[in-house]
Amino acid sequence: MGRLEGKRAIVTGAGSGIGRAAARLFAEEGATVLAVDLNADGVAETVEGRDRMTAEAGDVSSEEYVADSIRNFVDAHGGIDIVFANAGISGGWVPLSDQTPDYWEQILKVNLIGPFLYVKHASPHMVDQGAGSIICTASVAGIRANAGVHPYSASKAGVISLVQTVAYDLAGTGVRINAVCPGLIETGMTKPIFDMARGKGTEDRIGQINPLKRAGRPEEIANMALFLASDEASYVNGQAFPVDGGLSASH
Ligand code: NAD
Repeated sequence: MGRLEGKRAIVTGAGSGIGRAAARLFAEEGATVLAVDLNADGVAETVEGRDRMTAEAGDVSSEEYVADSIRNFVDAHGGIDIVFANAGISGGWVPLSDQTPDYWEQILKVNLIGPFLYVKHASPHMVDQGAGSIICTASVAGIRANAGVHPYSASKAGVISLVQTVAYDLAGTGVRINAVCPGLIETGMTKPIFDMARGKGTEDRIGQINPLKRAGRPEEIANMALFLASDEASYVNGQAFPVDGGLSASH
């Protein structure tokens, strides 16, 4: 028996990195998984040749898309047990003096409004069922300074607040919501950092300020998402968990 046997899950940002690893892991553990990403090719590759997985191209910042996608998923599968609202963008590094309201909006729309839309449209179905687990990807950048550009960090702090406040809205319904806060993980988002270090021959220095002396792997975040999605986490609610090799413990 898999740890998510019979569960029905949507994973966003599943065309790459953490979302791809989590979507595949959830399916390997027995869940029926809808893998969502803006990148149609990426998400098609995630599900290719795998059981219980379907790919869908969509924009998590569009309320119309999110509402339709969840409604169609529930119609097809009779309910929804797990949402991993993971899609995100870094926005690149822009100095504070050059940042514009448009730049902030672009990041907040994907990183914060995206998870909000999944909470808004999936939780009523979970409440009707009396059970469900929502996991949102925040970041160490949402807990402390120096791990992201201002709007990125603000969006991730917002995700943590969303999780805390929604946990109280959902009190007594049987629906849980938590966040995972990755440290530096090698994915599509951080590829430029790793590529630059490899180019300079300094890749050994990446992660040296981390107590584990290395960057993390997408699968290491997916494992936490799996635990939070599963019934093993039945008394875990309203929390944000750093999965960062210990980085945030010392700063
Ligand atoms: P990634 O770039 O490999 O994956 C992110 C995916 O999200 C991409 O496939 C992208 O196409 C998709 N996406 C972007 N905007 C979207 C939209 N509007 N609608 C649908 N899909 C969209 O990066 P990743 O590191 O796997 O990122 C996953 C999550 O982890 C993000 O929320 C990110 O902020 C967070 N995170 C990453 C790190 C890290 O070091 N990699 C650290 C902390 C937090």
